[in-house]
Amino acid sequence: MNLKKTNNELACIFCDKSKLAIVKEYKNSIIIRDLFPKKKNHFLLITKKHLDTNSELLKISILYIRILKELKEFILQYCLNKDYNIIINKGKSAGQEINHFHIHILYD
Ligand SMILES: [Zn+2]
Repeated sequence: MNLKKTNNELACIFCDKSKLAIVKEYKNSIIIRDLFPKKKNHFLLITKKHLDTNSELLKISILYIRILKELKEFILQYCLNKDYNIIINKGKSAGQEINHFHIHILYD
C-alpha cells in the first residue's frame, strides 16, 4: 500500500482528518459540519480517499454507488422526516471551493 501523499492531498484541508470534527464515519466517507452553514444544519459528506474532482469519482462507479448508499444511510438517520437539500458543486464557478469530492446536506 502506498502511503505517500500527493501534493494535492497535503494541501487539502479535507485530507487532514485530525482537524475535522467528524459527526459520522462510514466505510468510504465521513460526515462533518460545514464551518460556514447556510442552514441550521449543514453537513458535508466527504470521501475518505482524496479525489480531485467529482468527475474523478464518477469514473469509479462502484465507489460512487457506495458513497450514495452511505448518503442514504445518513439521510435515513438524520433527516428522513424533514425538508432537506442535497447539493454537489462541480467547479469554481459552480461554487466548489475545496477540490475534494463532497456532498452538501442541508436542513432546518
Ligand atoms: Zn483531499
